[in-house]
Amino acid sequence: MNTLTGGCLCGAIRYTVTAKPWAVSHYHCADCRRATGAPFITWITLPVDGFAWVQGKLGVHHSTEGVTRGFCTDCGTSLDDAEAVTPDDHLWSGSALSWLHMADGLPRLKQGHWGVGYPHKPKEK
Ligand SMILES: [Zn+2]
Repeated sequence: MNTLTGGCLCGAIRYTVTAKPWAVSHYHCADCRRATGAPFITWITLPVDGFAWVQGKLGVHHSTEGVTRGFCTDCGTSLDDAEAVTPDDHLWSGSALSWLHMADGLPRLKQGHWGVGYPHKPKEK
């Protein structure tokens, strides 16, 4: 996989991704919706050693037990080329908004990947 780059809208935060994502998922849970103000958010899950912050300092918010959300304290974050990855599935589909209808044919899981595994995570030896 080619290196992905990204950063926030104002340019203060920059990062690189060198690992192949384990999953690219649309999250429909209420916490993700509330944190972003969007009807769902697309997250990339990957090994931590394949990700690096290269510029800036994140603000952090501990939204729920075990979940820390990082963000630019001035704006937001995104990939430079959002077409570089494609979604694998929808998570927390039972929490999806009733008016949101996506005919993308992707699998819909009632929960996260915990317990069912990630679509592209290599098997542990
Ligand atoms: Zn920013």
